[in-house]
Amino acid sequence: MSRPPIDFESLPREVRDRLMEPLNDLRECAVCPRECRVDRTRGERGICNTDDSFPVASICLHRGEEPVISGRRGICNVFFSHCNLQCEFCQNYQISQVSCGLKTSYSSLQDILDAIVASLAAGAKAVGFVSPSHVVPQMKVIIAALREFGYTPRLVYNTNGYDRRDTVTSLDGIIDVWLPDLKYLDNDLARRYSHAPGYVEAATTSIKEMYYQKGTSIHLDDDDEIESGLIIRHLVLPGEVDNSKAVLRWIAEALSPSVHVSLMSQYHPIPQTAGHATLGRTLRRDEYEEVVEEFHALGFYRGWVQELDSPSSYRPDFTDGGHPFET
Ligand code: SF4
Repeated sequence: MSRPPIDFESLPREVRDRLMEPLNDLRECAVCPRECRVDRTRGERGICNTDDSFPVASICLHRGEEPVISGRRGICNVFFSHCNLQCEFCQNYQISQVSCGLKTSYSSLQDILDAIVASLAAGAKAVGFVSPSHVVPQMKVIIAALREFGYTPRLVYNTNGYDRRDTVTSLDGIIDVWLPDLKYLDNDLARRYSHAPGYVEAATTSIKEMYYQKGTSIHLDDDDEIESGLIIRHLVLPGEVDNSKAVLRWIAEALSPSVHVSLMSQYHPIPQTAGHATLGRTLRRDEYEEVVEEFHALGFYRGWVQELDSPSSYRPDFTDGGHPFET
């Protein structure tokens, strides 16, 4: 059954106010572990350099995720601008760096809703929020507005892992699929590469909460597309095999080897890492093989192990406002 188009401004004032209520959490912002305590509703900005607007850089159908996430038609990914991590090697650096102006391709909430509805009409079953940790209240508004008009797509929270546990708790029953990275089990590395103090405690605590909500099983529909569950991603960094092995060990021991893990080899240097001893190169085969060996030794049997020679389509280009993965 086709759904009506969304006309946000047509809603009664009290309904719009109710839908916007999550933005109150930006008043003394502790949305993410950095706890800057700034009032973003008054234009103040913390480390993420983001106010209370809806900073969406791109909305597109993306087919490059794990097969159960992408599905046949692709997932409708909503890429937020800026990020509460600042990874030296970020593939999305064109939109994620807080030193750059916010890249917003949509001038209003209405535009964002229209773009999402267009993707759903094109066959996407799920909406994925990419790098949402610093804009969870805005994400909640988008979700509430979709629901107000009868749209109930599956919702995927695609996060760097630097979340607060109570943020994850507040999304219980709203988010269908948790898709966190676990980047580091080494706080020194997290500080050096992502400028993220306390990353290990934040990520492991929030992922435990996701695990508590979803357990080890993922639920698939008749097309083998995910309906709910937890998938933990880990990108293997060149020169950091020990970190990767520690990450896998933590998942196996603190959670379970039955968890779905997506092991990724797609690291590729960006211009900013040129000349760096390790981040300036791609992953070596022997490094990746050692991590894959650990993956199997720990008993993981569900999930995905990416081929080493990953295609260049994993490297997005957000510069021209077109589809970042299709040039
Ligand atoms: S979301 Fe931004 S302002 Fe709020 S605590 Fe995190 S970095 Fe600071």
